[in-house]
Amino acid sequence: MSNQEQTLSIIKPDAVERNLVDEIKKIFTSNNLKIKESKKIQISKEEAAEFYKVHQSKPFYEHLCSYLSSGPIVAMILEGENAILQNRKLMGATDPKKAEENTIRSLYGISIDKNSVHGSDSNENAKKEINFFFKN
Ligand code: UDP
Ligand code: MG
Repeated sequence: MSNQEQTLSIIKPDAVERNLVDEIKKIFTSNNLKIKESKKIQISKEEAAEFYKVHQSKPFYEHLCSYLSSGPIVAMILEGENAILQNRKLMGATDPKKAEENTIRSLYGISIDKNSVHGSDSNENAKKEINFFFKN
C-alpha cells in the first residue's frame, strides 16, 4: 500500500553557512523525496521559540531558539512514500557522533546542537510545521 506523505525539513544555520544546501537537497532527491517547496529565510528568536515550543521545558531551549534564529535557514516541504520516516532516516540521530554512517548528520553535523537539519517527527507535527512555514 502506498503511503504518500509530506514532511517539513529545515537546513539549519550551520549547514547554510557552510554552503551545504545543494548537497543536502541532493540526498533527499536521490532517496525518493521530492522537494515541493523551498525557501531561504531568517526567522526571529520569537518565531523560533514558537516553532520549538514542544521543547520549552528543556534545558537547551533558550540556546536552541537563539541558534535557529542566528542566520539564514532553508525550509522545505518534502514529499514521498513514508516521507516523515524516510527523512528521519536520512537525517540520522540527533547527536552527529551517534548518527549512522552516511546520514546527513554524520556527514555534516558539527555537534548535538549544530546538527545541520530538522525533520518533523510525526504526521501531526509535520502538518503543524508545514503550516508554520508555508501557510498562505
Ligand atoms: N538539542 C540540543 N541539545 C540537546 C538535544 C537537542 O541543542 O541535548 C537541539 C538539537 O538542535 C535538536 C533540537 O534541539 O535537533 C531538537 O531536539 P530533538 O530531541 O527534537 O531532536 P531532533 O528531532 O532534531 O533529532
Ligand atoms: Mg525533534
